[in-house]
Amino acid sequence: MPFETIAKHGDHEEIVFCNNPEVGLKAIIAIHNTALGPALGGTRMWNYATEEEAFVDVLRLSKGMTYKAAAAGLNLGGGKAVIIGDPKTQKTEALFRAFGAFVNSLHGMYITAEDVGTTVKDMEYIFMETPYVTGIPKAFGGSGDPSPYTAHGTLMGIKAAAKRKLGADSLEGLRVTVQGLGNVGSNLVDYLVAEKAIVTIADIDKEKVNHLTNKYDIQSLDPESIITAETDILAPCALGAVINDKTISNLKCKAIAGGANNQLAESRHASALKELGILYAPDYVVNSGGLMNVFVELEGYSSERAIDKTTQVYDNLMQVFDIAEKEDCTTEEAANRLAEYRIKNIGGIRQHHQGRMSRPFSTLKEMVDRQK
Ligand code: NAD
Repeated sequence: MPFETIAKHGDHEEIVFCNNPEVGLKAIIAIHNTALGPALGGTRMWNYATEEEAFVDVLRLSKGMTYKAAAAGLNLGGGKAVIIGDPKTQKTEALFRAFGAFVNSLHGMYITAEDVGTTVKDMEYIFMETPYVTGIPKAFGGSGDPSPYTAHGTLMGIKAAAKRKLGADSLEGLRVTVQGLGNVGSNLVDYLVAEKAIVTIADIDKEKVNHLTNKYDIQSLDPESIITAETDILAPCALGAVINDKTISNLKCKAIAGGANNQLAESRHASALKELGILYAPDYVVNSGGLMNVFVELEGYSSERAIDKTTQVYDNLMQVFDIAEKEDCTTEEAANRLAEYRIKNIGGIRQHHQGRMSRPFSTLKEMVDRQK
């Protein structure tokens, strides 16, 4: 059964089942690919209905991390972990420390971080058992909240889309609509206003809308109509699946570039966007700024360097657009191909010359040094 599921959902290098009944820990760590570097990805805690559901989720999410890191140009592989349990009622210090001990047993092949259902506090417990954790508080040398960096990367994604689709070197006077004014969206609006874009916003939370319309001379729309509003660039920064059978034929944007995960309800919507002549900047390339920020934490954190690193999103997207044009495929396929080319070409060099992962790392610094 597990092998059939793995074959269906990926070609994973290593999967670790973590059981510690004394503390109620049931978790799975999936290492999808380490060709470019150690597998990095968050730990999700979720009340999965079945173990099979948790297994499929961790396989899918870890594979996604491989592609995200590779397309971002980082020397990182893809991994993810899931803890089966209710994050509201089943969290204990012992559970996270036991999980941290499992992470530590992988000697840096897998590096964890916060994800849905886990918090900085949980990462602190994991950090007591292993150095292979990121997103720890700034006081411990961590990078803190990744959202401003995700937002800055998203700004770069919007600039790349504006350049490719509209030939624009600046966002001044371009219409940009932002759906979702949470951690990513609100920071993005600050950047867009500074760039003199004509910004329109929406959120289901009226307070967040009012805060920004009071702060800046910008317009708002209701959350339903913003996706299909007439605009140059649509930036979804709230939910997934906003490009779907209902919305796609009503879109009046020229390009889509936003921070939300999984914006396309299904892959076929990428082909539909191509046919409509709407340029789609693949979400996982646009929102890779948060992962870049974490990568900088591994090297010894500096906020300036993290912001600088996120400017790379612009060039990454230009490469994606070039591949899509040359190979006449959707931009989503092009992003996957960019990731696969990098894993094949660069991964091969690293393996050949460095004896990848042949010796375990004893500190994070040693691991990063060996990546150089
Ligand atoms: P958040 O929860 O802080 O913000 C989401 C916002 O969307 C909230 O203000 C919410 O009220 C609003 N919203 C929900 N439904 C809406 C609707 N129907 N219409 C309009 N607004 C609606 O989340 P976030 O951290 O800002 O993340 C936003 C998106 O970006 C998510 O898809 C997330 O997975 C993705 N993402 C975030 C990061 C990061 O660094 N935070 C990194 C990568 C990807």
